[in-house]
Amino acid sequence: MAFMEVIAFGTQEMLTRPCVDCGTITGSFCDYCRAADRMPTEIWAQNQATPLCTTCDRKYDKCRFCRADHAQTQETQQPMVQDTTTAH
Ligand SMILES: [Zn+2]
Ligand SMILES: [Zn+2]
Repeated sequence: MAFMEVIAFGTQEMLTRPCVDCGTITGSFCDYCRAADRMPTEIWAQNQATPLCTTCDRKYDKCRFCRADHAQTQETQQPMVQDTTTAH
């Protein structure tokens, strides 16, 4: 569980939260956003990422907030293209 130690400093209760996608209690998080940015009305550990269970992470790669952002900002671009472009 070294992963969680890197993510945030807080109590176990604070770090184990319902997945924003399916509601499953999880200690896993979205890689792309902070919980306080997405749900400012709730109490979060400092720099805590948005809770996203491993099932949804595997399924969607990012939380529903990030998916919504992605849909809005990149609707005219090709979906699901990883930015692995290298300069030549
Ligand atoms: Zn989930
Ligand atoms: Zn996210």
